Amino acid sequence: MKIPGIHHVTAIASDAQRNLDFYTQVLGLRLVKLTVNFDDPGTYHFYFGDEAGRPGTILTFFPWAGARPGRHGSGETAAVSFAVPSLAGWAKRLPATQTGTRFGQDYLSFADPDGMAVELVETGGSGTAIIGFHGVTLAETRQDATAKLLTEVFGYELAATDENRFRYVGSAGNTVDLLIQPELRRGFQGAGTVHHVAFRAETDEIQSAWLLDLANKGYQTTPILDRQYFHSIYFREPGGVLFEIATDPPGFATDETLATLGTHLKLPPWLEPRRAEIEATVPKLELPTYA
Ligand code: ZN
Repeated sequence: MKIPGIHHVTAIASDAQRNLDFYTQVLGLRLVKLTVNFDDPGTYHFYFGDEAGRPGTILTFFPWAGARPGRHGSGETAAVSFAVPSLAGWAKRLPATQTGTRFGQDYLSFADPDGMAVELVETGGSGTAIIGFHGVTLAETRQDATAKLLTEVFGYELAATDENRFRYVGSAGNTVDLLIQPELRRGFQGAGTVHHVAFRAETDEIQSAWLLDLANKGYQTTPILDRQYFHSIYFREPGGVLFEIATDPPGFATDETLATLGTHLKLPPWLEPRRAEIEATVPKLELPTYA
């Protein structure tokens, strides 16, 4: 049993409209689901992704109005990277960017409106639009226990090393980089930080097997939770980052058609009776229009 790769990444924003505009208009992702945080239904939950909202392309946000900024540090996701065929034209569309080359690939890094570090990595091919995740970088003070989880439990392989950066790759091709900084102070969550990284389970049966396997290996997981578009278990990896294992099915086209994904506020059946109250609580939004 192996984890193929990243399913989604969930992060914290402050202003909802600003976050929505940046990810749809500047980065060109599609809003594939507009819903609320099921644990805090007065807050939106935005899902951005490719046209179909495929696992491996989904960046989600909880926009909490007035959320205080988090602190970047250890036990946190230091950067979220997207793959693009070409970086051509991106720098002039983005706020203050830095460029570099890592493991033979050119990349461009910048901060989103809440200060979250985002990277675009050039992977070759035609076009410039985001394809999906290239990977995540986790900031950690030590490598051993997290490396063991990635390789011995998830089945990832150590693909490359550069000084204190260790790159692990799953079978779906996206990466987890461990950036080891022993003196780095602990980060804390807030606007501009990643809340958790979710990995894929292809089926519910496979997820149940992971639940057992992780428990047998001493990881403390939550029970399976119904997230409407996938089922989830959560656990904290040894370095402090919250991990999730999320199922590919049922996906985002369960309560609206592929063509209309993200055009209406969707609520799970157990929150539908509270729709009027929820709609009165969440901020009014101007939804994206796609040319
Ligand atoms: Zn999640």
